[in-house]
Amino acid sequence: MITADIHAEAAPAASDTNAIFGLHQRLGLWVTARCPLRCGHCMFGSQLENRDVPALEDLLDWLNQAALTKRVRLVSLTGGEAFCVFDKLRAVIAHGAALGLRMNVVTNAYWAESRDQARQLLSELPGLTDLCVSVDEFHDTRVPVDSVINAALMGHELGLRVMLAVSYCRIEDYWEYKQQLEQRVGVPIPIFPVQIVRQGNAQRLRPERFDLREYMPRGMCPGVSVPMIDKHGVVYACCEPPLDLEIAHNPLVLGDLRQESLSIILARAEANLYLQALRVWGPGYLAQRAIELGYGHKLRRRYPKDSICEVCYDLLQDEELLVAIRKDLERPNLQQEIAARRRLFFREALGRYEMSVDDYRGPGPQVA
Ligand code: SF4
Ligand code: SF4
Repeated sequence: MITADIHAEAAPAASDTNAIFGLHQRLGLWVTARCPLRCGHCMFGSQLENRDVPALEDLLDWLNQAALTKRVRLVSLTGGEAFCVFDKLRAVIAHGAALGLRMNVVTNAYWAESRDQARQLLSELPGLTDLCVSVDEFHDTRVPVDSVINAALMGHELGLRVMLAVSYCRIEDYWEYKQQLEQRVGVPIPIFPVQIVRQGNAQRLRPERFDLREYMPRGMCPGVSVPMIDKHGVVYACCEPPLDLEIAHNPLVLGDLRQESLSIILARAEANLYLQALRVWGPGYLAQRAIELGYGHKLRRRYPKDSICEVCYDLLQDEELLVAIRKDLERPNLQQEIAARRRLFFREALGRYEMSVDDYRGPGPQVA
């Protein structure tokens, strides 16, 4: 565990009200692999287990490391269902807050059976700044929407930044669900859509549920700026990665905190052209290049409408294809274009991670 004077080093972020975050300023952290539900759309269904991992000691260490990056400003506690391990959750939030980090918890609100209960439990989490409640047709077969509303309203009353996350198969499902939810909540709490990616339990959803098309979804990936630490301390590039793939050739695996520090892992990721290409162009661009390079037969080329994540997963299935794309990205003019786009879109010309990847090669997977 890192025990240096973390508090002196941490960025002053707890009072941060800026809603816009840059590269690696947000971080997802698995608090536990436990969850009382087994939702039909759970992308991480295969990762849930009754054991409470990771250990509290590891989580506190990883928070220390997050503060030492001087980059991370907001930590989202996820898993699993963090309220299942309430004492641990409280300790993690208190520690993160003491480090100056904004602390968010993502929950299904099963614990908020009444408003009194919701208020009581949230009051016992000093340092919590943000609350994200998952609610949708899949969760509400097990957790009543009233519990979600109790949690959201009490969080709102206590001054937390509250959001409601609605997962959907088709965007039309989302608009309909959102409208009903707004009427029930009654106060202006932000509601945002989360497109279901067919992995984990979601692989078993009927294909007819999705708006499948023979086309290539396009768009930049904002998610790849938000890394996630899983229950084993493996750091992924985003919060929605395929977790069941072989690590060796998965460029979304950034490194392992059992082998090297988060600062080193994130610095190496910053220099990773594949990840930067996902940020400035998106997986649709990389898939198009794969087709031009003669690898089109390795792609499904039939995806749910607008699902850039499913294109991204498709690219990760084949090592030969990944090697070809990475090699292609090393063309000098392409590297210059990535740099220009980063300047244009994210003003990242002088970022603190502007350094050669050779400075950061460590024992972790060579992902650059
Ligand atoms: S989607 Fe969330 S609440 Fe549902 S099983 Fe997965 S972790 Fe649990
Ligand atoms: S497109 Fe890829 S990198 Fe981006 S959020 Fe989806 S799976 Fe993650």
